[in-house]
Amino acid sequence: MRRMIIAGNWKMNGDRDLVRRIAERCSGAGVDGVDLLVCPPFPLLPAMAEQAPAGVALGAQDVSEYASGAYTGEVSTAMLVEAGCRYVLVGHSERRALFGDSNSRVAAKFAAAKGAGLIPVLCVGETLEERDADRTETVVAEQLDAVFDACGADAFREAVIAYEPVWAIGTGRNATPEQAQAVHAFIRKRVADRDAGVADSLPILYGGSMKPDNAETLLSCPDVDGGLIGGASLDPEAFLAIHACARPGG
Ligand code: PEP
Repeated sequence: MRRMIIAGNWKMNGDRDLVRRIAERCSGAGVDGVDLLVCPPFPLLPAMAEQAPAGVALGAQDVSEYASGAYTGEVSTAMLVEAGCRYVLVGHSERRALFGDSNSRVAAKFAAAKGAGLIPVLCVGETLEERDADRTETVVAEQLDAVFDACGADAFREAVIAYEPVWAIGTGRNATPEQAQAVHAFIRKRVADRDAGVADSLPILYGGSMKPDNAETLLSCPDVDGGLIGGASLDPEAFLAIHACARPGG
């Protein structure tokens, strides 16, 4: 049975007070087979590492594809490991759209993360224009194939994928369970075409306006193995309410 993951992406939000409140609220909130993951901004990683209760994993929101050197403003995989991270998001749509992260750069970041022993969470998803033009599968396939090209057929062993339709992120308009399930099944099949064993154990999270009132139906889809949550992860009660909706095995 695949484990479920409920992950919070704070984006450029939060402070030490939120670290304290989330850490307190997550304490003792364990649900068997459902992992909690928190991805605060870089400067809050040490505080979260210090305060996070057992069972709450730490992740970063991005990482450099380079190991070290003259890359002002960048953060390396080794620095994330030292800060206590186990996971790192790569290819979030905001990085792709606002900061020029191409498929090949995202694949290089993914490879760097794996090389350092981090678990990369590859974010994929289509814009509204791409969905309307019936290009969802083409776009997602290109995003996945760039990673296969960089890392080989078993690229997604010890990795996570988050399907995040861009039109659903921060808009209050979530994908329907049917829309999410269809793309998740497509992703799993594309991974299975390269390695069926990897596909079977690969957690595929849904992200895009997941809230306590829509989480249960989204999380009960057979190929939805958790959520990547933006806005609602800033509210400890909402984040934990979503976590309580997750049942291992869908
Ligand atoms: C995200 O940023 O990954 C996200 C899913 O945001 P929101 O939940 O706010 O739509």
